[in-house]
Amino acid sequence: MANAEAKRAYDRVYSARWRAENPDHIALWRAENPDRVRLYVHKRRARKYAAENDGWTDADLAQRAEETDAYGCFWCGSDPGEDWHRDHIFPLSRGGSNRLENITISCAPCNLSKNARIAYEEWTPPIAEEPTP
Ligand SMILES: [Zn+2]
Repeated sequence: MANAEAKRAYDRVYSARWRAENPDHIALWRAENPDRVRLYVHKRRARKYAAENDGWTDADLAQRAEETDAYGCFWCGSDPGEDWHRDHIFPLSRGGSNRLENITISCAPCNLSKNARIAYEEWTPPIAEEPTP
């Protein structure tokens, strides 16, 4: 329907202008909501690659971790702490999906060093350090 399209176009222009006029607000919001920024970036990347997405949420990741008793980094087993990443086991950019089955929790060093490489073929996870008691 033409009206809905016009409304969407108007909203897009309006919000783009608002963002341009309020750069501090965005920066402040980003600084205060790092988890939401990360989730947003993650979903935007998934859309960019038009990956299949089954609508998983962080709650699904947490539930799976509980069910499988696997809370640490998927690759090295370390405790990623606050800085955990939502990692694509098979990289998005290589055709991996954005379905829950292809998402795992990893520590920042593993995710960042693996990047878009295929684990165990092009990248080998580090040996986990013994957890400090
Ligand atoms: Zn790791």
